[in-house]
Amino acid sequence: MCICVDCHWVDHCQAYHAVERQHGVDHLCADPSFVPQSPRIHVSVIDLGAGQAGVEWDVRRCDSFEAESGRWLLLRPGQVLPT
Ligand code: SF4
Repeated sequence: MCICVDCHWVDHCQAYHAVERQHGVDHLCADPSFVPQSPRIHVSVIDLGAGQAGVEWDVRRCDSFEAESGRWLLLRPGQVLPT
């Protein structure tokens, strides 16, 4: 799970914007201004079945992380958390 979904900066963050782009999902913000310090993005290859593979991007550590539990869900109520 990407830690960004519980981070205060998620809707202003350039690193999370890049993660959204890699996942092909809608952006929380079209032009984020916040530059995080040392985000560590974990990239893994996942088996999609039928001989298909996908790539998963998750921020696992970040020096700018500021805990705000449920921040992403607050911005997108009722939607499924990105994994
Ligand atoms: S954890 Fe870091 S990369 Fe993720 S939203 Fe927060 S500041 Fe951005």
